[in-house]
Amino acid sequence: MNEGKVAIVTGSARGIGKAIALKLAREGYHVVISDILKDAAKETAQEIEKLGVKSLAVVADVSKAEDAGNLIKQTVEAFGQVDVLVNNAGITRDNLAIRMSEAEWDSVLNINLKGTFLCSQAAAKVMMKKRSGRIINIASVSGILGTAGQANYASSKAGVIALTKAFARELGARNITVNAVAPGYIATEMTEKLPENVKEEYLKQIPLKRAGTPEDVANVVAFLASDAASYVTGTTLIVSGGLVM
Ligand code: NAD
Repeated sequence: MNEGKVAIVTGSARGIGKAIALKLAREGYHVVISDILKDAAKETAQEIEKLGVKSLAVVADVSKAEDAGNLIKQTVEAFGQVDVLVNNAGITRDNLAIRMSEAEWDSVLNINLKGTFLCSQAAAKVMMKKRSGRIINIASVSGILGTAGQANYASSKAGVIALTKAFARELGARNITVNAVAPGYIATEMTEKLPENVKEEYLKQIPLKRAGTPEDVANVVAFLASDAASYVTGTTLIVSGGLVM
């Protein structure tokens, strides 16, 4: 169905990014795996190739303009085009706002928000020439709620939601859609380290009474990449089992 199309997923060596990469590969996309984790990225790329599509592992720190540019350049050299960019790379550095260090603030904003901007800008230049493309940004319900203990993370993800709208407005005339997905509590290595009482509290508040899986998020990303979503742009789809409505 998507034979010959090319998708890039940042931060896809593991977790939600890896699930997105596998889902898109199963739907026929060639998938570029990008991460700062070199060995894990290579392993994921090998897993992708077993599904019968092509893959490429590119080591790139999304917070660096040079790396973001290089990621798109290597993709175009290998495959000639970029049809879908999924900005998934992200980190948390939780702390109370009054105790938060400048380094905790900067690292989260640089990777989550600036990284999304840099990769989108580089990919958009290629997509604009083809007059088609999909950019899908992984935000978070934290960017809607402004979660306590996550002033840096919540601000970065609120920024991602605004950035999604700005890019959607600027790129719509070139037939490029830009959307965000805001996951709630998803079971990955990122949330594994949360204290047990916090996890229990989340489960109490989630109407569907379970943590989300990386596949729950990947399915929605695949929808936004598909032809079925061709008239959807600038929106944020919440994938939280009802935690946030
Ligand atoms: P994860 O920590 O398991 O995976 C994140 C991946 O990003 C890792 O492979 C990591 O190496 C990579 N990465 C980190 N810094 C990078 C950088 N500078 N450049 C490139 N890659 C980098 O986390 P996850 O739970 O899979 O999260 C994926 C995305 O989903 C993130 O944007 C996160 O904020 C978002 N999210 C997660 C949850 C959740 O509950 N897990 C909820 C809402 C949003």
